[in-house]
Amino acid sequence: MGDAPDWSRLDEYQAQVTASDFRWLLDSHFAPDDAAKDWITIEPGQALIKRDAGDEAPAVLKFRAFEETPPPVGRYWRTRTEWAADKAELPLAGLKIALDPGHIGGDFAVMEFRSWKVGDGPLFREGDFVLAVAQSLKPRLEALGAVVTLVRDTPAPVTTDTPESLRPVAAELIAERELTPGLEIDVKDLQRRIDALARLLFYRVSEIKARAERVNESIQPDIVICLHVDGASLPEGVELADFGHAHFLINGAYSADEISYDDQRLAMLEKLLSGSWREERGLAAAMSESFAAVNPLPPYVYTGDNAIRINENPYLWARNLMANRLYACPTVFLEPYVANTKEFYGRFTKSPAGLVDEYADAVAVALTTFYGE
Ligand SMILES: [Zn+2]
Repeated sequence: MGDAPDWSRLDEYQAQVTASDFRWLLDSHFAPDDAAKDWITIEPGQALIKRDAGDEAPAVLKFRAFEETPPPVGRYWRTRTEWAADKAELPLAGLKIALDPGHIGGDFAVMEFRSWKVGDGPLFREGDFVLAVAQSLKPRLEALGAVVTLVRDTPAPVTTDTPESLRPVAAELIAERELTPGLEIDVKDLQRRIDALARLLFYRVSEIKARAERVNESIQPDIVICLHVDGASLPEGVELADFGHAHFLINGAYSADEISYDDQRLAMLEKLLSGSWREERGLAAAMSESFAAVNPLPPYVYTGDNAIRINENPYLWARNLMANRLYACPTVFLEPYVANTKEFYGRFTKSPAGLVDEYADAVAVALTTFYGE
C-alpha cells in the first residue's frame, strides 16, 4: 500500500537535531519501547537509518552539536516564531490555516459508520456536523486575520476514486494477503470481503491521500486542524452513556510493525526532525484548555499501546494516524466531544447551532492563545 519513499528527503535534516533530542524524541514520543531498534542505530555524532530491510549501507543522519545553530530547512509551513516575525496587527494576521472536517458525511455517512439517531431524535452525521463547524469557524478566523482554507467544503469526497474503481485493488490485496494494520476485515464471503475492503480503501485510504495531496501541494498551510467528534454509529439496543470525554491527538507512537514499513519510517523521521511536534504540542495544549473552559469533560484514556501520553497533559495523546502522518505540516486532531452520549445528543437535539458555535469558539480561542503568546 505504501508509495516508494524518497530517502533523499532526509538530507534536508542533516545537523538539525542534537543526539540527545533525537534519542529523547524517539523514546518518549515517536517510537516508544524501542520500536525503531531494528532500523535506527544511534552512534556518536550520527544515526544510521536502514532504508529497507536489506540496506547494507544505511542512510547517515548527522546530529547537530549542542552549540551549533541548525541550518534552515526547506518546507512550506512556518513555526509560530517564524510567522510572528512578519506578523501584522491582527491576532492571526497572515497565518495559513487549513480546516479539515473529518470524514465525508452526506450520502457517504452510512458507509463510514458515522450516521445514526436515537428513537425519533435527529439524524447525527459526524461528517456533516464537523463541516458546519468548519464553515462557522472560517469567517471568525478570517476576521482575526488568518488565511483559511477548508480541505473539503461539501459533504462529498475529495478523492476521484470510488469504492467501485477500487474493487480490483481490494481483490488483489486480499489475494496477496497484503493488508496494512487497520484494514483487516472480518467477513467470510469473498465477494463481500472485497466490497468491504474497497469501501475502506475509498474512505479511509484514498480519501486521506487525496486530502494530503491537497494540503501539501496546493494549500500548504502553517497548520492543519482536523475537526472530529468521537462517537461512531451506535449498535442496536445500546444505551447512550451519560457523559463523554475529550482528547487531542498529534502524530507519534509508531509501533515496531508500523516502523517496518519504509514509507512510515521515513514519515516518522520527517515528523521528528522537522520539529512540527513542537507546534502540535503547544496548539493541542491550548485546545485542551479552551474546550475544558466551556465544556469540562474527563480526558479519554487509551488502554492499548497505539497511543501514548507525551507529557503531563492528560488530554494530549500521540498516535500514528494516516492523516497526521501524511500532512507534512503541524497537524492537530480534535476529539473534544463524544456524540453518542446523553449530554451531547441531548444538546444536539435542542440546538445543533449552539454546539457548532461552542466548538468553533473554542478553536478560535485556542488559536489566538497559542499564536498570541
Ligand atoms: Zn471522526
